[in-house]
Amino acid sequence: MASFYDTHAHLDYPEFAADLPQLLERARTAGITKIISIGTDLASSERAIQLSERFGNVFAVVGWHPNEALTAPDDLRPALRELAKHPKVVAIGETGLDYYRMPSHKEGGTVEQDETYKRKQAQIFQQQLEVASDSGLNCVVHQRAALEDTLAAMQPFVGRVRGQFHCFADDAAAMRRVVAMGSIVSFTGILTFKNGQNIRDALAATPSRQFMLETDCPYLAPVPYRGKRCEPAYVKEIAEVAAQVKGCSLEELSAATCQTAHEFFPKLR
Ligand SMILES: [Zn+2]
Repeated sequence: MASFYDTHAHLDYPEFAADLPQLLERARTAGITKIISIGTDLASSERAIQLSERFGNVFAVVGWHPNEALTAPDDLRPALRELAKHPKVVAIGETGLDYYRMPSHKEGGTVEQDETYKRKQAQIFQQQLEVASDSGLNCVVHQRAALEDTLAAMQPFVGRVRGQFHCFADDAAAMRRVVAMGSIVSFTGILTFKNGQNIRDALAATPSRQFMLETDCPYLAPVPYRGKRCEPAYVKEIAEVAAQVKGCSLEELSAATCQTAHEFFPKLR
């Protein structure tokens, strides 16, 4: 059986508290042999590390999500540098920029609040890129409606820090700009959605060693589980569609995506 990795899961979320060992067993049965649990703030990052200590095939990414930027400390770097030393911490993130939901879109929100929010996102993104560079790690990048600013923030780090543009949902032209900077993209269950043709087109255009697969669980369950809680085992369904789109066998897709993951996450064993 072809094996795959879930390179982006939120195993520390409460959705999984009741059945984690069974969920990991289902992943193993489906051929999903490694799972990377992503932190969204310091507490979540610490929980991801604890899970990596408890389960051999679970690894951790530590960082602070842009949607949580307003509650981040002024200087995230000292705490992140310490967490990054752990042998099973394989990258920094998830970090990046998200302009999709801004304070002014809500009742009573102001444009000034938008500016504060953007500034804080940019500040913690910059800090995480610095920690990644100092630690010899790459970054898991969350980007939504903010491609230009995200690429601009990463530009000074080209050659030192690569990004995994996770849950890639932009077009082939955007993918080419990401890849041109030495970064890579990764695809979720959106690839299987009926209305996901633009994402399939982006994957079709992506060079075979520049992408990975992920669930972003508990979100974005692929067809035929769409709308239900997502879990790492469902990388299998994502991989089946990805192989069709790339016109390759599952074995070829497994070899390419796993090798890409080992290059991107140097501490993944
Ligand atoms: Zn995520």
